[in-house]
Amino acid sequence: MDALLSTPIAYLKGVGPQKAQILQEELGIFTFQDLLFHFPYRYQDRNNFNTGSQISSEDNYVQLKGRITHISEAGSGRNKKLHALFNDGSASIDLVWFQGHSWIKNKLNVLNEYIVFGKPKYYQNSWSIAHPELIKVEPGVILKGFESFYPSTEKAQRSGLGSKGISKLVINLLDQLNRQIPENLPPYICARLHLMSLVDALYEIHQPKSETNIKLAKYRLKFEELFFLQLELLLRKGNRDVQLKGYAIKEVGSVFNSFYKQHLPFELTTAQKRVVKEIRKDLSLGKHMNRLLQGDVGSGKTLVALLSLLLVIGNDLQGALMAPTEILANQHFIGISDLLKDLNIKVALLTGSTKKAERLLIHEGLLNQEIDLLIGTHALLEDSVQFKSLGLVVIDEQHRFGVAQRARMWRKNKIPPHVLIMTATPIPRTLAMTFYGDLDVSVIDELPPGRKPIQTIHRRENHREKLYAFIGEQLKIGRQAYIVYPLIQESEKLDFKNLEDGVVQLNSFFHPLGYSIGIVHGKMKSAQKDKAMQSFIDQKIQILVATTVIEVGVNVPNASVMVIESAEKFGLSQLHQLRGRVGRGAEKSFCILMTGDGISKEAQKRMETMVSSNDGFVLAEVDLQLRGPGDLMGTQQSGALALKIADLARDGQIVQLAREQARAVLNEDSVLKLEKNSLLNSTMKQILKSKPNWGRIS
Ligand code: ADP
Ligand code: MG
Repeated sequence: MDALLSTPIAYLKGVGPQKAQILQEELGIFTFQDLLFHFPYRYQDRNNFNTGSQISSEDNYVQLKGRITHISEAGSGRNKKLHALFNDGSASIDLVWFQGHSWIKNKLNVLNEYIVFGKPKYYQNSWSIAHPELIKVEPGVILKGFESFYPSTEKAQRSGLGSKGISKLVINLLDQLNRQIPENLPPYICARLHLMSLVDALYEIHQPKSETNIKLAKYRLKFEELFFLQLELLLRKGNRDVQLKGYAIKEVGSVFNSFYKQHLPFELTTAQKRVVKEIRKDLSLGKHMNRLLQGDVGSGKTLVALLSLLLVIGNDLQGALMAPTEILANQHFIGISDLLKDLNIKVALLTGSTKKAERLLIHEGLLNQEIDLLIGTHALLEDSVQFKSLGLVVIDEQHRFGVAQRARMWRKNKIPPHVLIMTATPIPRTLAMTFYGDLDVSVIDELPPGRKPIQTIHRRENHREKLYAFIGEQLKIGRQAYIVYPLIQESEKLDFKNLEDGVVQLNSFFHPLGYSIGIVHGKMKSAQKDKAMQSFIDQKIQILVATTVIEVGVNVPNASVMVIESAEKFGLSQLHQLRGRVGRGAEKSFCILMTGDGISKEAQKRMETMVSSNDGFVLAEVDLQLRGPGDLMGTQQSGALALKIADLARDGQIVQLAREQARAVLNEDSVLKLEKNSLLNSTMKQILKSKPNWGRIS
């Protein structure tokens, strides 16, 4: 870093040891550079005024210029209030203070002109502003154009480091720096994209001259932030591709071929074919594959995984398939064993409930390669599970596994096994590009033919009778139904009671009609769960009441109704996952979202989105807008990505541009050794040194 910019913040004019400490502890500002990159979150144009008569409830803040016409006090004791009637020539506005009246009262002067700034509220037929900001208009003094508002904390505020205090320090800093801020993007990139220079951008973002300059400055700084991130991801990926060797799967092999020709249960969709080809090519190259496979629920990822595993097994290596729940692992084991029954491939199942004796046999079978394919849960991660030659690990529904857990699979072999991560929770493109920017991504964007779209309906409690009648109709024509209850940690007791009450209610309605109800929830022993699931698959049970343990992967094509109780408690991706449990057969299916009456605006939006879209990628985009990237990706991953100015939910286009530009640079100069990229080279060296290597373990 530039020597001047790395100066400790305590050396800035106006910062003593005490303030320095607050800046560090509260705002993470240690150096000049940190303060320089502590950006305003909002600006107020001091020369741009609202008109009092045109204030609307849409206005978050208004700025008015006018005079105070009358001052009065109301109430007494702790309820004492100070009112000042303010008029801007178009309307009267009531300014109110609940505290500090006497001080303010002494300051106010009915002869002066003021600028008033604050949040308007409509109250008793007129607009009022509580605790407004007041600036006295001095005759002859021209107001500064834009005022910058800085993020701060309560504690910092108490030490004189609120927005105003920080603003003063920034002014000192910009003075002292005297525009000596080195550029860090090569001129050819700035010119190509018409970017503002870094020094201009930094001065403008703190002390803008115009609205347009604020936009240009932000754009430049966002681009820079995202560009270096993409450059980092692509460089890491490039390094890994060069350095990390994987098994080269040269042959297609006889198992793949005979399965493909003789045992494939259905013709692959075009998207499945394309992805299998991508994986085949990747595996043949001799580099290490680290691939993310995205595909909506029901798009047929399992078959793609199986074909990839067969490629590896046909080359005399072993494969592993890891699923997040026992139900899912069981289901994969049963389904895959069945598909492979005529081929000479040994498949084993390892989960938490595998008995010790069998487990030991499996350990042995893996070491002498009697077992070709191991399917299971987290149990696969245990150190005692060792392979003779593990060629490929497939991780199903990856979002259930943490980064560190996944990393453990890497250590199962001297040559790291190829990794295929599958997810049915589509990740918005911008997030995929940033969080998984160093993975290769395949997408199955097509559902197998013959699926009827699922009809989604949002209903409230007063529809319950009709709901039961509707379920009854579906059961009568031989279909089955899921009823899912949320079971959230904090309110588990209450939720559990809801589930139990629900079962009682369902029983009293459906039992007399001759239907049976089963239950599956996370607290049950695995054997019990399996039994209930199996009864549902065998159609001995018509209604399955469940918690979200059935969220991922479970496949019962005859089920045509999914009722989600208290649907407002679920996020969009979870709702979509649950909905994906139906619509798996050829029959028309239904998803009914049951909610209470008074749900939040955001929950309402979620319900509407579910009703209007069946597309996981569309839902993921909406989810990103509603919840933001941090919540979407989980804190563990978002921590790796502390963006200062770019917003992954809003700046998708800049992410895209940054990626294209980073790629273009590396295509021409893969290790940044050209003279024109020397600036990039030195910046990247620093970045790569200072951050943990996430690419290695994702
Ligand atoms: P997911 O991608 O959600 O894991 P699955 O692999 O469980 O989806 O597949 C969903 C269903 O679609 C399964 O019943 C599977 O047998 C079926 N399926 C997969 N591929 C095809 C295909 N090409 N044609 C018809 N059905 C298919
Ligand atoms: Mg699946």
